[in-house]
Amino acid sequence: MFSLWGGSPRWDGPFTTNGDTWSRRGGSGQVIPEVPDDQCCPCALWLRRGVNLTEASGLRFQYSDRLWRILVCPSCRTPLSREEGAGARCHGCGTAYGHADTGALDLRLKTAKKYELEHELGSPLLSESGVDFRPLPVNSAPEVDYSSVAVPPHMTKELLSYFPRAKGPHSMMLDLGCGRTRHRGVCEHAGFEYVGLDYDSPAAPILGDGHSLPFKDASFGFVLSVAVLEHIRFPSVMTREVLRVLQAGGVYIGTVSFLEPFHGQSFYHHTHLGVYNTLRDAGFAVERIGPNPKWPVLTAQAMMSLFPKMPFVLCRALVAPLQWLHVLWWKLGSVVDDRASRNARLTRTAGAFFFVAAKTDSR
Ligand SMILES: [Zn+2]
Repeated sequence: MFSLWGGSPRWDGPFTTNGDTWSRRGGSGQVIPEVPDDQCCPCALWLRRGVNLTEASGLRFQYSDRLWRILVCPSCRTPLSREEGAGARCHGCGTAYGHADTGALDLRLKTAKKYELEHELGSPLLSESGVDFRPLPVNSAPEVDYSSVAVPPHMTKELLSYFPRAKGPHSMMLDLGCGRTRHRGVCEHAGFEYVGLDYDSPAAPILGDGHSLPFKDASFGFVLSVAVLEHIRFPSVMTREVLRVLQAGGVYIGTVSFLEPFHGQSFYHHTHLGVYNTLRDAGFAVERIGPNPKWPVLTAQAMMSLFPKMPFVLCRALVAPLQWLHVLWWKLGSVVDDRASRNARLTRTAGAFFFVAAKTDSR
């Protein structure tokens, strides 16, 4: 999407990838950056290898009949008809949707669309039960056993322990902002048929806009969006779209930037209250929101902005003394002030937050 060392950040669209930032536009032969899997940093500053777009253009995707049955026009939500070898057509508004040069079905909006939004004003922010915003503990009753599965980038075993199990053999899940589809394995391990959508990634089977998802209501039992919400122009709109495409009882799990630096066209970095408000305002029941304790602001800033292209180990070593002093200072503070807890420190200094929410009714 942009090069740190040359050129300026460029706006590519209303919904960017989760940071496995590719620039598909600009003609063939363009280099698509790859981010090493061991990098926590979800931005594109760590370009060590490249894939030539000409090769990537050879990608083709398979779409199941089940998937075709849930596809709708992103403009008018009329079910799409499959055009053999030529994409899809909407018989409601007449729009034709083709394949991108990556081979993906391109269901991004072809024309601008109005979206009306209602907010409830004057209601209290926190519910009766409240949310304590602690780092996520391991779920004591996980639905899926991930003990033998490697934890993918940007996740922890704690977050994985909240993944739902597919309710049936035909349950589908949506990886919203799927990037290189690196979360496919853990989603399929839970029994879901995986559907990956991104605005602009050559690895995405479907290209689409998070503000106007090309799926019928109540299509998915699970939606995942990892490091996506901060790249969304209108977070309330996308969150309502996620609610719409989820089935009653469906789960929405994700991560969002907090004190990471500006990266990859990020718009709104969320505090814990910001995530909570966005989810509640959309109609979600919030189960967990917690800072990622393994991704402190100092590391995030060092890797993503202060020392780009520096090896991860060296980055961490550079900020380690300050991080250590910071933790020590808060520990000393906790002796004289109860408010100086580890939880309080982490909610103020995390690079990103995790969230777990559910759709509790059939809206
Ligand atoms: Zn249409």
